[in-house]
This record gives sequence, structure tokens and C-alpha cells, in this order.
Amino acid sequence: MVKFLQDREGQIITKGKDSGDLIGGRPSLAGSVSQRACVFCGSRVVLYPIADALHLIHGPIGCASYTWDIRGSLSSGPQLYRSSYSTDLREQHVIFGGEKRLYKALSDLITELHPKAAFVYSTCIVGVIGDDVESVCKKVQAEKNIPVIPVMAEGFQGSKKDGYKIACEALARLIGTDDSKEASPYSINILGDFNLAGELWTLQDYYSRIGVQIMTTLTGDGRVKDIRNAHRAKLNVVQCSGSMIYLAKLMKEKYGIPYMKVSYFGIEDMSDALYDVAKFFKNDEIMEKARRLVTSELSRLVPALAPYKKALEGKKAAIYVGGAFKAISLVKALRLIGVKTVIAGTQTGNTEDYKLLKAICDDGCILVDDSNPVELSEFVKRTGADLFIGGVKERPIAHKLGIGFVDHNHERKHALSGYNGMLNFAKEVYATVMSPVWRFVRDVK
Ligand code: SF4
Repeated sequence: MVKFLQDREGQIITKGKDSGDLIGGRPSLAGSVSQRACVFCGSRVVLYPIADALHLIHGPIGCASYTWDIRGSLSSGPQLYRSSYSTDLREQHVIFGGEKRLYKALSDLITELHPKAAFVYSTCIVGVIGDDVESVCKKVQAEKNIPVIPVMAEGFQGSKKDGYKIACEALARLIGTDDSKEASPYSINILGDFNLAGELWTLQDYYSRIGVQIMTTLTGDGRVKDIRNAHRAKLNVVQCSGSMIYLAKLMKEKYGIPYMKVSYFGIEDMSDALYDVAKFFKNDEIMEKARRLVTSELSRLVPALAPYKKALEGKKAAIYVGGAFKAISLVKALRLIGVKTVIAGTQTGNTEDYKLLKAICDDGCILVDDSNPVELSEFVKRTGADLFIGGVKERPIAHKLGIGFVDHNHERKHALSGYNGMLNFAKEVYATVMSPVWRFVRDVK
């Protein structure tokens, strides 16, 4: 039996057995191979779905390997964001400074590609050699007449979560710089959906059916002009609260825009997201349309889910995802199709989030913050999970243990939000868990 690092006490609990709450928000412990990525990576995750912007990474070429190919995010128009640009710093630039190289790369790329804005990401070595990225951006912005925004995201500053905050600060510099887009009295910004597989298009359909205007999507399928006008919306609706709640709070402070947290995954949460927005606007017509939409979608979905629930009843799932709200929605959605969650963990949840997660899990469920492959493998063995739901870094754990894996993150190709998304999810869980291939896999657990 694996022994866990003593200093991680409090970051691993079993519901019904351990009395305390799960502690979140701690820095990763040295010696524990955290699944968390670096600050730069966190900032890039949030910003790069802005499709008509240039994204230039000031640093060694290796930092730029984190590209669109690793994390899909769909655009209904421009494709500029899919290209990864780097100043490719070498030894001589580390010795003599990289500002001239940054200036030339930035100027040439803007001339060549005509982006609507440019984001310049500062990586570890740039922080070490002390290039003045801010002043290069300022100079190019004045010369090229587009917003050029430094993203001071040196990897060593902390973890991926710190990168989210830096990205929010970069977005805040863009918001409020244009007033030309009309906003209806029932307008919202969607914060924290990255349109990995077209989720935003589902939400656009739902919100337009109930008479609510989506002003800006931050940042999935994002456009610079919309973001510059985001301060005109009447409400911020925040999905991935781990990445975007900071921006929502900044906008509340600066522009007085209220915000609410929602999830678009699973029947309950999707319906609440529509009802809560309708309630906020205190408009009977919007509420009535929301009711009709939910009723009509459910009359289709509930019978369609029934056979999957029957087949999957009693199966067990392990969840390890980025944020706690995603984990909470997953526990509820799995329960809807008869699957019990036996492990629930996240990279970036905080203690308050974990109280909610613990409350909805069953006794015996292992809850874990900032885990690593050794711990996760051990938990799967202990609980006998049939399925692992996670992202790109959890996939090999499931494969090595010989259990099914469902991608709930970067690599998936099916939208999982909304009512159709719930059906897609049920089909994927079913196809994974019930696959005949498991008959031929020796027991490696
Ligand atoms: S930790 Fe530093 S060097 Fe490594 S990818 Fe992140 S920014 Fe680049």
C-alpha cells in the first residue's frame, strides 16, 4: 500500500470517515509531482481562444509548445489564434537581452497578420533577464494603433491558477476601451467557457431562445471588439469560476456589473443557469420562455437517457479535473446515469468549493486536492473505479491501470454542455465503460 506524503494531510479526506474539511489553495508540495501546470500555461489557457488576436510568446521555443493542437478551442471565424508565435530566445539574447528581438517580432507579425490586438506572454527567462516587456508593448501599440497587452506570466511565480489571475488582469486592460456595441437591457457576458467543442454555440442558441443577448464570450470564440465592449453588459455569468471569478469581481468593482456562478453541464445545472439568469432580469416573458425551453428539452432527453442509466447502474467513477465546480457538476451528472463517484479531486479548488463538493458526494468518496499520479493510481486501486474522467494528464493513468477514460477537458470533440451535451456524455460513458475490450484486459489493478 502506498504511503502518502505526510505534509499533504488535510488535502486528502474520505467522506464519512474523516471529520475535517478538504483544504484547497495550498502551494504544491515539493516532492509531490503535481498535475498543475505553470503560470504561463494558465494565462495562455484563458487568453488564447481570442480568435482574432495575435498571441506571441516571448521566451524559448519550448514554452511555445503549448499550442492549439494540445488544447482545442473552436472559432466560428478567424483562425489566427491557432498559430503559435515565439521570439525563440537563445543564449545570446539571454546574455544581451531580448527586447530588440521582441520589438521586431511583434512589429513584423502585426504588419503581416493584421490582428485586432496582440498579447505578449512573458516566460521564466524573460523575468530572470529583466526585459522591459511593458515598454516594448507600449511602443508597438502607439506605432501600430492596436492594443498590445503584456501578459507578465513568468512560470516561476506560482501555479496555473496564478496565471488565470494574470490573464484576467490582461483582459481588464482591454475591457472598457470601446463603446460602439449596443447592449440590450437583457445582456450578459459569458465568462469561463472556452468553446472546446462548440459549447458556446449551444449556449448562444439557448439564451437567444429566451430573449437574452450574449454581449461577449470570455474567451471561447472570443473577439477583441466584443471584449472591449464587455463593460456594457448587464450581468456576468461565470462558468469556470476558478479561472474567471477574479475578472468578474474586477468588473463588479470597476463597472458595477453583478455576477453569478453557473455550470452548463448536466440537466440540473443547465436548467438553473437559464432560470437564474431569467430571475436576475425579473422579466416574466424571459422566465416563461426559459420554462418552455427546459420542458421541451427534458421531454426529449429524459427518455433518451433511460437505457444508458439502466446499463450503467452501479458503476464507479473517479474524477480529477481543473476546477471544483466542474467536479460538482460531474458528480451530479454521473448520478443521473446511475454512476457513483468514488474519487473526486481538482487542481485548483479552494476550501469553500470543497465543502460543496463534499456535501454532494456519497460516504466513502475520496476527496483530494492537487493530487499526483501515484496518489490517483492508488485511489483507483482502492475504490475499484471502472472509469476515470479527467484531462490530458490523467489519460495515461487510466490506460496504465486498464480502466476506461473519458476526456472532460482539452482533447474532447463532443460538446458536453446543455441537454444534448448530457446525452453525449451518457453515450461516451456508456461506450467507454461497457466496451467489450475490457474482457481482454488482464487485471492490472
Ligand atoms: S515554467 Fe517557465 S520555462 Fe517552463 S513552460 Fe512555463 S514559462 Fe516556460
